[in-house]
Amino acid sequence: TRTLVLDDVTKAFPTGTVALEEVSLSVSAGEFVSVVGPSGCGKSTLLRLASGLDEVSGGDVEVNATSTSYVFQEPTLLEWRSALRNVELVGELRGVPKLERRRRAREALDLVGLSGFEKQHPRQLSGGMRMRVSIARALVAEPDLALFDEPFGALDEITRLRMQTELQSLFALKSFAGLFITHSVSEAVYLSTRVVVMSGRPGRVVADIPVPWGYPRT
Ligand code: ADP
Ligand code: ADP
Repeated sequence: TRTLVLDDVTKAFPTGTVALEEVSLSVSAGEFVSVVGPSGCGKSTLLRLASGLDEVSGGDVEVNATSTSYVFQEPTLLEWRSALRNVELVGELRGVPKLERRRRAREALDLVGLSGFEKQHPRQLSGGMRMRVSIARALVAEPDLALFDEPFGALDEITRLRMQTELQSLFALKSFAGLFITHSVSEAVYLSTRVVVMSGRPGRVVADIPVPWGYPRT
C-alpha cells in the first residue's frame, strides 16, 4: 500500500510565499523516507500537508493510514502530566486498559532511554529528554504513518546516535511508513530506505534516491 501520496502539490501562503511547487512523492508501508534540503525549501510545510495540519493550494494529498503520529521539532507535551502519563495518553484516548497502557508506556520510555524518569514532569526534564518523551509517545501509538520533523536536531551527539540506532531497529520490526525531515545527509542515508532531496524557493523535489544497502528487513 502507498500510505502517503502527494501528487503535484503546490502550497502558497496568504502572504504570497509559494513554499512548494509541483511536489510529487509517495511513501509505502515499510518505507522510511528522509527529506533533506536547505532551510526554507519547504520541508516542514510538506510534513504539515502530509499530516493534514494544513491544506494544499493545488494538487492532492492522499493518506491511507488508520493512525498518523507526528513528532514535532519542538516537543508538545502536557506540562501537568508526568512523562509516563504523557506517553500513556494515546492508550487512554483509545480505551486501552490501564495496566496494559502503562506497561506499553514504560516500554516506550525505556526504549528512548528514560527509565527512571517516568514520574518527572516535562519542566523537570532537559530539552533532549522532552524530545525523547515525545518520540516515545509517537511510537507507543504504533502508527501506520509516522512523520518526523527534525526530531534529533536538539539532542546531544551521543543521544542522537543512540536514538538513530533505536529508531532504525524499531522501524525494522514494525512496518510503518516513515517520513523524516533532517538537515543531516548522513542521518538521512543511515536511517532511510530512500532519500528525497528538495531545493529552491519554491521548493521542489530535485532527487529521489533509493538507499540500496538499507538495513536488513525482517
Ligand atoms: P524548511 O522546513 O525547509 O526550512 P518551511 O517549510 O518552514 O521550510 O518554509 C518554506 C517557506 O515557506 C519559507 O519561505 C517560509 O518562510 C514560508 N512559510 C512557512 N510557513 C509559513 C506561513 N505559515 N506563512 C507564510 N509563509 C510561510
Ligand atoms: P540535552 O537537552 O542537552 O540534549 P539530555 O537529554 O542529553 O540533554 O540530558 C542530559 C543528561 O542530564 C541526562 O541524560 C540526565 O542524566 C541529566 N538530566 C537532565 N535533566 C534531568 C533531571 N530533571 N533529573 C535528573 N537528571 C537530569
